[in-house]
Amino acid sequence: MGDVRAAFGRALEALGATRGITILRSSSLYRTAPWGPVAQAPFLNMAALVRTTLSAHQLLDVCLSIERQEGRVRAERFGPRTLDVDILAFGDLVLADERLTLPHPRLLERAFALVPLAEIAPDLVIQGIAVGEAAEGVDRRGVERLGRAKT
Ligand code: ADP
Ligand code: MG
Repeated sequence: MGDVRAAFGRALEALGATRGITILRSSSLYRTAPWGPVAQAPFLNMAALVRTTLSAHQLLDVCLSIERQEGRVRAERFGPRTLDVDILAFGDLVLADERLTLPHPRLLERAFALVPLAEIAPDLVIQGIAVGEAAEGVDRRGVERLGRAKT
């Protein structure tokens, strides 16, 4: 919802300004037909690759605080939102607790996450498969590459 490009720009800026986080790369923007049970406008998606000295849980706290800065209110699950910042993978860490599952459990089936990630980290291996290879195998109809985000 709202000016998503501007929200992505602010989110990247906030990530990069966080102590212990360095942005290495960021992908193009992609427009994606909405997924799930709720009728809504297309989503915009992008991926960023960061280096961090934070723990995965600390990084999640940063992601959630950036969502809050963008005024995200958790209402309907899968419904419209101002900004969703997820951790797709954290190095080769595998974990599942009540707050965090890594790699993101739906990454390999979601073209809207895989395609942007493949642009910046094709050699990253998730559950034994390289992201670039996984992105080629996924149904990417409905995932349209737009330009770069305003940063
Ligand atoms: P979604 O991202 O699936 O649309 P939400 O953004 O509402 O849903 O996330 C709900 C919760 O998912 C977060 O509060 C967080 O604790 C949890 N979560 C589990 N794994 C992850 C992950 N890899 N990245 C981000 N959030 C995660
Ligand atoms: Mg989320």
